[in-house]
Amino acid sequence: MKARAEEEIWDVAVIGGGPAGMMAAGRAAEKGAKVILIEKNKSLGKKLLITGGGRCNVTNAELDNKKLLAKFKDSGKFLFSPFSQWSVDKTLEFFHSRNMPTKEEANQRVFPLSNTARSVWDTLVNYLETTNVTVMPSATVVRLQHRGGNITEAELKGGKTIRAKKFILATGGLSHPETGSTGDGYAWLRDLGHTVLGASAALVPIALMDPAKRAAGVSVQNAKITLYQNEVQQAQARGKILFTHVGLSGPGILNMSHEIGELLKYGAVHLEIDLLPDMGYEKVNAVLQNALKHNSNKMIKNSLSEFLAPALVPLVLQKAQIDPEAFCNGVTREARIRLMKTLKHLGFDAKHLLGMDKAVIVAGGAALTEIDFKTMRSLKYQNLFLVGDILDINRPSGGYSLQLCWTTGYVAGTAAAT
Ligand SMILES: Cc1cc2nc3c(=O)[nH]c(=O)nc-3n(C[C@H](O)[C@H](O)[C@H](O)COP(=O)(O)OP(=O)(O)OC[C@H]3O[C@@H](n4cnc5c(N)ncnc54)[C@H](O)[C@@H]3O)c2cc1C
Repeated sequence: MKARAEEEIWDVAVIGGGPAGMMAAGRAAEKGAKVILIEKNKSLGKKLLITGGGRCNVTNAELDNKKLLAKFKDSGKFLFSPFSQWSVDKTLEFFHSRNMPTKEEANQRVFPLSNTARSVWDTLVNYLETTNVTVMPSATVVRLQHRGGNITEAELKGGKTIRAKKFILATGGLSHPETGSTGDGYAWLRDLGHTVLGASAALVPIALMDPAKRAAGVSVQNAKITLYQNEVQQAQARGKILFTHVGLSGPGILNMSHEIGELLKYGAVHLEIDLLPDMGYEKVNAVLQNALKHNSNKMIKNSLSEFLAPALVPLVLQKAQIDPEAFCNGVTREARIRLMKTLKHLGFDAKHLLGMDKAVIVAGGAALTEIDFKTMRSLKYQNLFLVGDILDINRPSGGYSLQLCWTTGYVAGTAAAT
């Protein structure tokens, strides 16, 4: 008769069934280890299913490791070894060879061809099944016990314990706690004597003083965002933006959220959005003249769809102080120039960053200097491995977070199984 999970001594116990934990567990089992994956939710990968707006930006198709790691800023130097073992090419091969074709979109973002995160989830769950990982759902680890520089067991809520030769910690960070990422692993690491750097929301949407509520849900694929403080330009970047009920989101804003947060500490922050960044003033002016001429007997609110999402028209006309019901042939030169300037400099004042519940990732986590990156092993406990969001690794939006999960999960799974 098969022994119950808590009576066995497992080769590897993985704590946390997010993308990093699933990859680590599958990989360790593929290498022949007897693996248990402990997850406190009823099912695995709750956060994975909401990634990329439910479409899951599974990686970034940057095949040059040097360029890829430059995106991780100061953390990049730690990552050469793991990424030399498993990088983007391996991720693509992993999913493609398991019948999950992908497609590349703007800024090298890779998504499943099916357009749903469920395909990524299915692939990983199938990986766990085929490698015979024992999944233990609805099981919350509350403590790690240790003796002589080794973790000996994971204590579960209710008093049961899981004993294993190696432990992989994959409990994630603190963002979107409703998915299960409640920072449990940070507390255990601190108790174990690891340094955990203060966690704050990163890649987070912003609230505006005067949000464009009627445009909520509208996105602009390619916008240029410029930040000003005291009328001095502070930062500029391009990317997709999304209007929300309270402000702005989308990769372009998420990637600037750290700078916005820092600037807000010192005073008011003004954002200018260039809705047509590939056109200079003259070109925008010509396009407007053309639109007004061709629609001379129509109202202006119905004449701008060639270059502006319909839901943004009222907002832009309001900011340009133009009556939306004015007929195109009555629009003065001054009004047209105001419209041109509004399209190039749509202005908003930032209010604050949204909280942890809305953040994509957390800045902070387990200190990288206390980890051996060839194996993802703790330098303090020889049978403890750390993977995924629990690590203090800075990165932008664009598929880099999940790539980090695939890479660190694979490396830790391989090392823990040997
Ligand atoms: C809205 C949103 C969209 C995102 N979109 C993208 C994207 O498109 N592309 C991208 O690259 N990244 C994206 N990310 C980031 C990405 O989701 C994370 O980097 C990734 O999920 C981290 O994986 P992980 O396995 O380290 O942790 P998590 O996914 O947080 O998983 C940790 C798991 O551990 C479990 N757990 C925690 N504590 C315990 C405990 N005590 N006992 C047992 N189990 C426990 C949790 O329930 C959870 O299932 C997004 C994040 C958010 C919030």
